[in-house]
Amino acid sequence: MNVVWGGLGGGRIEVICGPMFSGKSEELIRRLRRAIIARQRVQVFKPVVDNRYADDEVVSHSDTRLSATQAATAAAILQATHPRTEVVGIDEAQFFDCGLVDVCEQLAARGARVVVAGLDLDWRGRPFAPIPDLLAVAESVTKSQAVCMVCGAAASFSQKISGTTDTVEIGSAERYEARCRRHFEPEESRQLELSRARAAVLRVPVREEDATTAQG
Ligand code: ADP
Ligand code: MG
Repeated sequence: MNVVWGGLGGGRIEVICGPMFSGKSEELIRRLRRAIIARQRVQVFKPVVDNRYADDEVVSHSDTRLSATQAATAAAILQATHPRTEVVGIDEAQFFDCGLVDVCEQLAARGARVVVAGLDLDWRGRPFAPIPDLLAVAESVTKSQAVCMVCGAAASFSQKISGTTDTVEIGSAERYEARCRRHFEPEESRQLELSRARAAVLRVPVREEDATTAQG
């Protein structure tokens, strides 16, 4: 790790993860507002790609807002962070490149409290880089849950309900909804993978309907 600053102490990385609509942005805004009330120097960043509600604000689905600076890359966050900044907030962190892990570690090494919010899983139900690596290096991890739109149970998955098969496709309630494990329906190739894993553990044949749908 290439640490440029160091020795200040007190730095830490906090990650808030979970599916869409689970309150990650609300929780990020809540923590940052408290830091502002405590008169700490706070800077907030969001990726350029996320322009759903505003370019210069972090906005939650319940419409809480906080001013933010757009950053095109993880390196741009480091460059734009003032050396005296005490708290750095980053929303929609899954849209940044893998350099984000090193950037957060560098900021923490120079004494900053880094609060990062992002999706831990993509709509296929697979770990969404760079969040998994951030979870590993963080001092604190909060995994939030939403409400399943089918049954009302606690939801940890983001179900794509319209749009393309691209991993990154910006959208809100028109494109995604929160689902629990029971009602999350992964795409067919993932269903086949899960069915194979289940078959290997239970020593039963792969479910025929999974194999046929996956072949088209
Ligand atoms: P995230 O950043 O995790 O996508 P937000 O903080 O933007 O979540 O939004 C959380 C808010 O979204 C909730 O307080 C609630 O008002 C609203 N909401 C809409 N759909 C759901 C849902 N299925 N489960 C929970 N909250 C929901
Ligand atoms: Mg959010």
